[in-house]
Amino acid sequence: MIIDLRSDTLTKPTESMLAAMWAAEVGDDVFGEDPTVNALEQKLAGMFGMEAGLFCPSGTMTNQIAIRLHTSLQTEVICHKYSHIYLYEGGGIMSNSHASVKLLDGPYGKISPQDILDSINPDDVHAPETTLVSLENTMNKGGGSIYTLEEIKPIKAICEQHGLKLHLDGARFFNAWVETGESLKDWGAMFNTISVCLSKGLGCPVGSVLLGSMTDIKRARKVRKAFGGGMRQAGFLAAAAIYALDNHVDRLKEDHDRARRLGAMLADHPMVSEVFPVMTNIVIARLIGITPAEMLQKLEIQGIKAVKFGKDQIRFVTHLDFDDEMLESFGERIKEI
Ligand SMILES: *Cc1c(COP(=O)(O)O)cnc(C)c1O
Repeated sequence: MIIDLRSDTLTKPTESMLAAMWAAEVGDDVFGEDPTVNALEQKLAGMFGMEAGLFCPSGTMTNQIAIRLHTSLQTEVICHKYSHIYLYEGGGIMSNSHASVKLLDGPYGKISPQDILDSINPDDVHAPETTLVSLENTMNKGGGSIYTLEEIKPIKAICEQHGLKLHLDGARFFNAWVETGESLKDWGAMFNTISVCLSKGLGCPVGSVLLGSMTDIKRARKVRKAFGGGMRQAGFLAAAAIYALDNHVDRLKEDHDRARRLGAMLADHPMVSEVFPVMTNIVIARLIGITPAEMLQKLEIQGIKAVKFGKDQIRFVTHLDFDDEMLESFGERIKEI
């Protein structure tokens, strides 16, 4: 049995999810006629108290569309230097939107209101105009860290004072939410746009939704078309997403419990110098006396897959297809290394 903890995107649809997909009523979504896609967009928008949603093939696309909406030539985005939008979207901020980026630092991949305030460019001929702040929750490269609503409020206030748009890369937003239980509508009220992935911990094969105002989502639909993301009978995929929202949100807690136990197992290993605090489903271990490549090879021999995550770190992500039996087996197997 292979224990694959490289990512929470590796999950396969469950039997019940497949049954829901099979039963979907579909139409051509580019014509706006897929009832299941429309239902998904309305359902998620309603949950966050936002006006509208747009179903897209990937979280990269929902983020990149949002950046396009909130920037133009000679403008700048503020984000953390470890942001997915900057590190892992193929340089899309530049190639899709021709925008400049200001990268901030901060513990666990989070940025502070003061640092944001200090990074807003002056109204000066030399500087690109700051128009957008983008946050990530949970923060992947920060070890699955969580922003609380109280941390967002002062950031929102700065954005309002300075006429900036605020975007949330909520690829793993529900992982944060099951921990805090904060009001989704309060979260919706903080952001101009929110991107939510269905294909991570929620276990869908494909899909992300961008949430925003009617006006923004109308424009987003046009950008999605230009990006090649207009899909036809996408209701089969949207049905998986609706199923996941109804059945796979609360269980994310189980992934977090297993991640904490996995982190504790790793912390006892002689070749692990440190395990980052486990806040959600991501476990990052710093190695000592062994390189990530060597460690990954030793794990692979034991039937465990993980990924390199920085020069002396490896990452494990728990998910729907990783159960208690596998967790126990993980504990036994790493003792062999
Ligand atoms: C996975 C992920 C995305 C989107 O990735 P896709 O693979 O394009 O769906 C965006 N942001 C974060 C933080 C992610 O982890």
